Amino acid sequence: MTHPLLDLTPLTASHFANIERRVAALLSTDQDVVIMQGEALLPLEGCIRGVAGPDTTALNVITGPYGQTFGDWLRDCGATVYDLAVPFRTAVTAQQVREALAERPEIDFVSLVHAEAATGNTNPVAEIGEVVRAHGALFMVDAVASVGAEPLLPKAWGVDLCVIGAQKALGGPAGVSAVTVSDRAWERLAANPYAPRKSYLSLLDWKHRWIDTGRRALPHAPAQLEMLALEASVEQFEKEGAETVTARHASAASATRAGALALGGGVAPYVHEARDAAPVATTLRVPEGTDASEVVARALTAEPALPLVAGGGVLAKEMIRVNHYGPAATRGVVRASVAALGGALAELGVTVDLSAARRAVEESWR
Ligand SMILES: *Cc1c(COP(=O)(O)O)cnc(C)c1O
Repeated sequence: MTHPLLDLTPLTASHFANIERRVAALLSTDQDVVIMQGEALLPLEGCIRGVAGPDTTALNVITGPYGQTFGDWLRDCGATVYDLAVPFRTAVTAQQVREALAERPEIDFVSLVHAEAATGNTNPVAEIGEVVRAHGALFMVDAVASVGAEPLLPKAWGVDLCVIGAQKALGGPAGVSAVTVSDRAWERLAANPYAPRKSYLSLLDWKHRWIDTGRRALPHAPAQLEMLALEASVEQFEKEGAETVTARHASAASATRAGALALGGGVAPYVHEARDAAPVATTLRVPEGTDASEVVARALTAEPALPLVAGGGVLAKEMIRVNHYGPAATRGVVRASVAALGGALAELGVTVDLSAARRAVEESWR
């Protein structure tokens, strides 16, 4: 009685530590990497509850739905929170962050999402990191949607807590995620009486029970399937090469954008400036009088495997997301996605130029 998913030997501590080292290498850092065995919201919540308390003053940058969630957790911890919200069709600038910090010298924590798959924008983390570092605040970044899709250098950029997951550009599973932790972040966590301890959310538990004891014994049984799948996705990324993978995502984004613009008929990129658009996914605004959910449903009837979804929540009527990440970051998927959306719009009576769109996709695939 064997099955490849059930016939696994237990994952050893040294194997687990080796996967951590490979994740650190992928992120070009020698800082500690803590792999938390849950969907990315686990380390994200663990980071915020670990550093925040009633004495915390936080600047929470909101460029999409995840930033809103971080603000809720920070307030729940009793922190004083200043939200810096920018329209989802843009990115935040380092200058906006600089001004917000100058207004409130007491800010000691900054949370930011690097790329937002849900809204399709990406923020200049390197520049913002310089500003945050000069101010002296601790800097947390959600890089779940950027890792693999675009350059990500948490240590060089001054990111103290950088959370990643394998489920987007790395083409891996959801259910296992990692966070890089700077020495400054460990100090803040250790000094915070409100940080979770003896808890599934606790980063400090991992430090005390795993890192400080030489990574010899795991605190609990590792999730083998997820860990092996994470290892496989890192291995695949190493084999293809960081530059090739990020170039594939950049091409997918620019070709989707160009194809959508060439369709005409009122289809428009949701993120106005191409430089603010995330390589991981492209968001589109549907023509007036059409419903994004209906356009997506029609497109998927023709081609069910395409990575098309309508926007979440209030955006369901107006936004289409083309999730061209991981194995979907290919010319073929982009070509088929633009064609299927164009076909769906044509069925709904919108005049679109399918051949111009096809040409634009081919020409802008770099
Ligand atoms: C995808 C994503 C996550 C993880 O959430 P899931 O919806 O479970 O995949 C976290 N943060 C950002 C910015 C993401 O894009």
